[in-house]
Amino acid sequence: MIELGKKVVVTGVPGVGKTTVINGAMERLAAEDIAYKAVNFGTFMFEVAQKENLAADRDEMRRLDKAVQKRLQQAAASGIAAMSGDANIIVDTHSSVKTPAGFLAGLPEWVLRELMPDIVVLVETDPDQILMRRLSDASRTRDMEGSRAIAEHQEFNRAVSAAYAMYSGCTVRIVRNENFLLEQGIDDLVSVLR
Ligand code: AMP
Ligand code: MG
Repeated sequence: MIELGKKVVVTGVPGVGKTTVINGAMERLAAEDIAYKAVNFGTFMFEVAQKENLAADRDEMRRLDKAVQKRLQQAAASGIAAMSGDANIIVDTHSSVKTPAGFLAGLPEWVLRELMPDIVVLVETDPDQILMRRLSDASRTRDMEGSRAIAEHQEFNRAVSAAYAMYSGCTVRIVRNENFLLEQGIDDLVSVLR
């Protein structure tokens, strides 16, 4: 039997610290000689968006026309599927994207079919903590919203991830990234990836 790589999709609302937890986990796994390729879904989308002069920075993409976002999403999904092969892969992305027209599924059926994840991880923490992290992050154009709205977004992400589990047979795992407990979040993600 051919040993296929593990495909792990890591999601979380903007500012929860997905990328930080992923980078920490990658470092830990490299020390154990476990090889993972980490790819950022938004970067794949942004490469196309930039080439077509659709967005000047990655935070502009969620305000593009829905049809355009879906086209970029499709391009990213097939690009990632084409390069992942049998490798272990982590995809840094979103269960849903908050757009002016409402929540856009990050893994609609045509994206799931390309990625077919074994596990969807939801990185979560308390909405107040996320709010503070967004306020102190000058490197990104984070949405300005209250903790109630952030809580709703996290709830929607759980709901839509249940649909991903139904469609693909993946498991859904919550990893907490609490203030001052980053190492614990990394440990948790490592245990999923190992
Ligand atoms: P990030 O750097 O993870 O915050 O992603 C940057 C941007 O990429 C997001 O704000 C979205 O506009 C877009 N993006 C990332 N993943 C997805 C996805 N699965 N579906 C649609 N848009 C996405
Ligand atoms: Mg990120």
